[in-house]
Amino acid sequence: MGFADRFLHAVNSTNLQDDAHHHDTDPLCAAALADTAGAGIGSLLSRVKYADGTQHKLFESGSANLAQLLRIWTARVIEKGRERKWLKENTAWDSDSAQKLYRRIAERSLAHWLDGKCPACSGSGNTADRRICAPCKGTGKAEIAGAGGFELEKVKDMVSELEGLLQSHNARAGGILR
Ligand SMILES: [Zn+2]
Repeated sequence: MGFADRFLHAVNSTNLQDDAHHHDTDPLCAAALADTAGAGIGSLLSRVKYADGTQHKLFESGSANLAQLLRIWTARVIEKGRERKWLKENTAWDSDSAQKLYRRIAERSLAHWLDGKCPACSGSGNTADRRICAPCKGTGKAEIAGAGGFELEKVKDMVSELEGLLQSHNARAGGILR
């Protein structure tokens, strides 16, 4: 079982007591340790991505983990946007519109990362009669809705950052478990 599977099992497990027959708490400890060693957001990403079920619905209705994740992620995106000077923020108006843009980028990148499957083929890339899905051209990925140009480019960047954060979190947590 990979780390993500073990983590999912542990998070969903009703019995978190650690005993001789029960090692479900190990992945949780490893995740916590990996967080201490790393970026802090990894365990939350893992929890929301693998353990909260139907992410798309949850993103709309809002779960506690997801709300927390979105807050942390938005703060990160604002930090990155400023560091990388995505926008000029010289005036109050600039800064206000920059905040709005950062927020949209944070929300869209997180939503796409959590549930970026092509709705026509549910992410398989094929139709039911095994032909290549036309809307996604076989990639299985949905278009990022409502964004274009500069914003779309930044949303894509942030989707890869999220994926990178999760991968390095899983690698660290996996390393601790071994
Ligand atoms: Zn498709």
